Amino acid sequence: MNDLKELTKRSMVVLIFSLIIISGLLVFTAKYTKNASLWVKHPANKHLYSNGQLMAERTIYDRNGKVLFETVDGSRKYNENETVRKAVMHAIGDSDGNVVTSVQVAFGERLVGWDLLNGAYRFNKQFNNYRSDMTLTLDAELCVEAFKALNGRKGTVGVYNYKTGEILCMVSSPTFDPENQPDVEAKPKKYEGVYINRLLSAAYTPGSVFKLVTSAAAIDNLKNIDTRVFHCEGEMTINGETVTCPSPHGDLSFEEALAVSCNVAFAEISLELGPDTLQKYAEKTGFNSSLKVNGIKTAIGKVNVSDAQGGDLAWAGIGQYSDTANPLNFMAYMGGVANGGVRITPRILKSNDIASFLATSISGRKRILSEETAAKLGEMMRNNVIEVYGENNYKGLELCAKTGTAEVGGGKEPHAWFAGYMNRDDFPLAFVVVIENGGSGSKVAGPVANKVLQSAVRQGDV
Ligand SMILES: [Zn+2]
Repeated sequence: MNDLKELTKRSMVVLIFSLIIISGLLVFTAKYTKNASLWVKHPANKHLYSNGQLMAERTIYDRNGKVLFETVDGSRKYNENETVRKAVMHAIGDSDGNVVTSVQVAFGERLVGWDLLNGAYRFNKQFNNYRSDMTLTLDAELCVEAFKALNGRKGTVGVYNYKTGEILCMVSSPTFDPENQPDVEAKPKKYEGVYINRLLSAAYTPGSVFKLVTSAAAIDNLKNIDTRVFHCEGEMTINGETVTCPSPHGDLSFEEALAVSCNVAFAEISLELGPDTLQKYAEKTGFNSSLKVNGIKTAIGKVNVSDAQGGDLAWAGIGQYSDTANPLNFMAYMGGVANGGVRITPRILKSNDIASFLATSISGRKRILSEETAAKLGEMMRNNVIEVYGENNYKGLELCAKTGTAEVGGGKEPHAWFAGYMNRDDFPLAFVVVIENGGSGSKVAGPVANKVLQSAVRQGDV
């Protein structure tokens, strides 16, 4: 009897010890999974770092093989040209990891040659010639062109191929030279939000580019929209709230209303659509969700009109009210219109292997509009350029576009938007330009888009 008691007691002790060991292992595994990438990247880790510098030899190239970043004898080197360095700084990142969406931060593990399952095995002596090179879809020259066109103004320029998803141009301003890190805090106005990649991580009031969302909803939901005649006296009062146009537009068709961006006509359209339909189309076309650019999440542009009525609903359909838009998401919407209603998610890594190709083709495709709706909207965007923006200002681009001049209040100049695409099989490029407090979309953002797209054509970029 006593023996049995003793045995039970011993078993219990063994069991308790086993439980402690197992739970310890579980905690370790959980912590390892969660934190390992942080631990391994800690500069005290002698497997990967030497004197605080990465030992891995690696190079980041642009799509044409231009070196944007490399490690030479353990030290970091950026492109030899200062303008190139500034133009691609947000994409590549700085050496302190301040730009969280940059390639250096987002793909840090891949770049240092470490992963969760295999650890740093590639740094064992027999693998000491391991290189973790990476080719981006960006064209550094096109980024330089966009950087120069922005000319020091705050904002962003994005261009991508709407058939393959490859981002050719991704520029955000203000920027700085990563080889010569400035004292950002000393000049807060000049470097306002300098670590933010505005294409990926900003959300701005869209203003009239949002009429392309309201238009898609109208094409699908309002009967006889093509034969309707709108009448604009220059303003319209809805429940005490006034919607205004810069001057009276008179009688207008739907197509003409988009071309001259008549707020009164679009107020009427928004009220007829109602909050639920407008909300549905905002979400279909990319609002209230983020896109993943090779896993890098974009900021979310928000539209919430479920409780909006009267003047609020009217202003929401015109891209004001509480609407915000992320530039990359809006560019992808433009790509979706161009691509027969199927949006290909933009990406920044060149895919050379089957796995990543398949990943893009399956998860990166989404039908956001019917083919007919996309075609009709595209025709209207083409008409905007021919009838109002001036074909001569965009020679040979076969441009389909919409301007936006987004009121931001506080006595500040509006944000200037220009978004659209080239309707050319040989250059299937969609784009977005935002210039913060830049003023008129057509006068300010339009010429920037033209410069960059003309340069893409000159260089034969697709
Ligand atoms: Zn009007």
